[in-house]
Amino acid sequence: MILDKFSLKGKVAIVTGSNTGLGQGICRAYVEAGAKVAGVSRRPSDETAAMLGDNFYNVIADLGSTQVIPRVIDETVAEFGRVDILVNNAGIIKRQDSIDFSEENWDTVMNVNLKTVFFLIQAVGKQFIKQHSGGKIINIASMLSYQGGIRVPSYTASKSAIRGITMTLANEWAKYGVNVNGIAPGYMATNNTQALRQDEERSADILARIPAGRWGTPEDIEGAAVFLASAASDYVNGFTIAVDGGWLGR
Ligand code: NAP
Repeated sequence: MILDKFSLKGKVAIVTGSNTGLGQGICRAYVEAGAKVAGVSRRPSDETAAMLGDNFYNVIADLGSTQVIPRVIDETVAEFGRVDILVNNAGIIKRQDSIDFSEENWDTVMNVNLKTVFFLIQAVGKQFIKQHSGGKIINIASMLSYQGGIRVPSYTASKSAIRGITMTLANEWAKYGVNVNGIAPGYMATNNTQALRQDEERSADILARIPAGRWGTPEDIEGAAVFLASAASDYVNGFTIAVDGGWLGR
């Protein structure tokens, strides 16, 4: 049955940034689809844990450094026995004119959005080898994986690179039954866009350009996230799917 192919029953997922926003929505969708989820967050994911009970385990880790990576894998395997799915969702953005953009704003964003993401994928790849299994890697990208943006050079660099390494890793790992894909959200109503939504003029400009005529929500991304984590996407490799209310097509 086709719907069975979307089931995540028996699967174990690691989802970073599990305390809020898109990451919290993905954790909830994966548990609804049958998976156990190890959510990684630097602050406790208490709200997510209260929603998901025993199907959720919280790894507390600051992804600004690669040093936490072995512990993320070890705690997940100790709790749930294996890893089948990794969603790299944690991400930050720093806004500053490029002419004044600081090295700190460059490094902070690149470390969380790109460096830790790559080395976490590498560690999960080694876990797949240990398990003699394939697996699913899903990288949360952005419209700025496709466009330039303004006043966000490190964010654009990181998200463009995420789309690039999604293709590189798919090229190397598709033959091992590992699917590496991305999701590029459009403008979603989360903490990440709170400042933009509070700026009435910017918010009106943005809404006028979205064909769907509304901000996206964490629920909007759940279908693509479950699809890319499931057997239904076994022949999808290296692609970053936009979930953007039509923004990129405009
Ligand atoms: P959000 O509400 O700001 O959530 C970001 C998540 O990343 C939070 O859980 C945050 O934890 C976590 N995080 C940030 N730095 C971390 C670190 N050093 N260690 C561990 N966790 C860290 O934003 P969101 O909108 O849900 O964003 C999720 C992803 O979607 C990000 O990669 C973002 O770039 C991408 N995205 C969002 C939009 C949008 O319109 N919202 C559009 C395109 C792409 P804390 O709560 O502790 O900071």
